[in-house]
Parts: sequence; C-alpha cells; structure tokens
Amino acid sequence: MSKKNLGIIGGGQLGSMLSDAAKKLNIKTVVYADDIDSPAQNFCNEFIQGEYSDNEKIKKFINKVDVITYEFENIPYETLDKMNQLKPVLPKPSVNRLIQHRIAEKDFINKLNIRTTRYVLVEKKTDLETLNDFFPGILKTTTMGYDGKGQYPIKKIEDLDNINIDFSKEYILEKLVKLQKEISVILTRFGNNNYEIYEPIENTHQNQILKYSEIPANINKKILDQSKEWATRIAEELKYIGTLCVEFFIDRNENLYVNEIAPRVHNSGHLTINAYNISQFENHVRAVCSLEKISLKKLSNAKMINLIGKEIEPYRQNLKLNEQEFFFDYLKKEIKEKRKMGHITTLK
Ligand code: ADP
Ligand code: MG
Repeated sequence: MSKKNLGIIGGGQLGSMLSDAAKKLNIKTVVYADDIDSPAQNFCNEFIQGEYSDNEKIKKFINKVDVITYEFENIPYETLDKMNQLKPVLPKPSVNRLIQHRIAEKDFINKLNIRTTRYVLVEKKTDLETLNDFFPGILKTTTMGYDGKGQYPIKKIEDLDNINIDFSKEYILEKLVKLQKEISVILTRFGNNNYEIYEPIENTHQNQILKYSEIPANINKKILDQSKEWATRIAEELKYIGTLCVEFFIDRNENLYVNEIAPRVHNSGHLTINAYNISQFENHVRAVCSLEKISLKKLSNAKMINLIGKEIEPYRQNLKLNEQEFFFDYLKKEIKEKRKMGHITTLK
C-alpha cells in the first residue's frame, strides 16, 4: 500500500485532528491556511501560511502533496478547482460549491425527496413583507455562515425594525421548526455503496453553537433508520469520498428534516475518537488516501462537551480527570467569547 502526503486546507481544530489521525497511519500532512496562528501547525508535519488567492504559495503546497482535502467549507470554488486540475481534491470541489450555498444545498436535498425546513430566497428587505407564512423564522446569509454567524431569528415582521441587517447580502428565510431535538449522522464513503456509518448522535446547541453531543441518541427506531438512510442517499448521490456529516432536526411531531450537510469531519463526531475503533478523522484520511476500509465497532457510549471561550481555563490548570474522561485543548492562542477552545469526551 503506497503512503501518500496529504494536503489539508484550513488550520483549525478539525485540521489538527485530521493531522493527528494521519500521523498514526504514517501519512505526512501539509496544512495550508491563511491564519498565521492556525492551531493545526502544532499537529501537522508542515504548515504553509498563505491567502487562498496566493497562486505562488498554493503551487508550493500542491507540489508537496499527493492528495488534497479541506476542513472547512468557505474556500473559493476557483481555488479548489484549480488545485484539482493538478492533484485530486476530495471531496470533489463541486460538492463543496453546492453546499456553500444554503439554497442550492436545500434544493438538492429536496430533489432527493428528503424533507428540509421551508425556505425562500430574500434579496431585499421588501421581499419580507410578503412572507408572513415563514414567520417565526430565521434569516440566514446564503453563504459563509457557521456557528450561527450571519443568522437573525425573526418572530414577526416588526422585529426587523429593531435589527440592523446588511441587505447588500443575499439571505435565505427559513421557517422555524419547533424542535424536539437535533441529531447528526456521520458516515465515511470509500466508493460506490461502500461506506462505514456511525450511529446517530444527539446534539444540543446553545445560542446556535453546538454545546453537547451524545451517543446513543434518544430517538425511535423509525427516525434512526430514516436518518441513516437519508445520509447514505445524500452521500451516494454526491458520489462523495471521505467523511460527511448530515445535521437533522426532529420536530415535536416526530418529523425528521435535514438541516444541513457538512462536506467534512464535524464537531459532533469528536466523540468518535474515543467511542469507536476508528474515528471520523482516521476514516476520512483512509478514504481520501485510498487506504483499506475497516469495519466500525462502537466501543462505548459517550458524551462530548464543547469548551467555549473561558470554559477552557480550569481544564488548562491541571484539573483532575478520571480515566473515562478525555480532554482536548485546541491550543488556540487567544481565548475569545463564542470561540471553540477545546472539548472533553466522557465515556459512559
Ligand atoms: P450553521 O451553519 O451556523 O451551523 P445552522 O443552519 O445549522 O447554521 O443553524 C445553527 C443552529 O440554529 C441549528 O443547529 C439549530 O439549533 C438552530 N436553527 C437553525 N435553523 C433553524 C430552523 N429553521 N428551525 C429551528 N432551529 C434552527
Ligand atoms: Mg449547522
């Protein structure tokens, strides 16, 4: 089996954990990111700091690797496409382009006969006057959002008078789902009908940011089967290679909706590092580097807690952990409010 050098675009905690997983497989990683303080430089073999438009630095990066992947979505399509002409980019750049745009993404999902929230494109403020049907709703930028950034919950049209929204951008208005709970399904696809799938994970958000992830999810058999079937259908349709996460809503009437697709490893899957024989990160590296697929085995139930902002501090000060607890520090230089600084996984 040939060993490859893996290029990773993006230098956050997901890039760190991908690098760590690659190391265990004897695969060298080169991380390319625009932030000079990218935490992944502590975990990869080589780090290149550069803008996503810097052709010279990107060329240097491409020359050092055999295959390229990415840890976040907001990379210009042109950049990924250019790279793909020289070295394979996985998942394919067209997959990322589709998912970058919330409307294109939801149109695609609906075409597969999979339920999403009701949604509509909003191009200007006056569009909202005719959309009473969609309130209470959430207005979201169509592109570039994450961790609830660029999102405005709106109960009624009058609320708009009190919020300052930049209408030079394009928005999607989504009807608010009366949430019973949220789950995610992570799978790694290696080729046609060839994949490993993790059991659904139950997720709790606070202020639109993920706070807790837990297995097993407390859901009925029908939702369990349907969520896995939908995630698999999406991956097959995209001819996806690598690890993919589908986020779901379950409403108070036990209806399942796809919220969004992440074409990458996902925060809710951090617990797979400790709770499975093969983590979502290792599986991603295996799939994009054409390594052997190994059957997944769950080792334990688990709960992950995201440490946001200052919550990391007591853990950094040598807090005693028992042997069922695993603490991860993303080694971010600066503590910021709402910033994911680390996580702790507890096996149950
Ligand atoms: P992001 O790209 O920031 O993760 P999401 O669309 O996943 O954006 O929204 C973040 C969180 O906000 C969701 O996980 C959910 O808790 C809440 N949310 C978003 N859209 C809706 C909706 N239409 N109905 C109910 N809750 C929503
Ligand atoms: Mg989300």
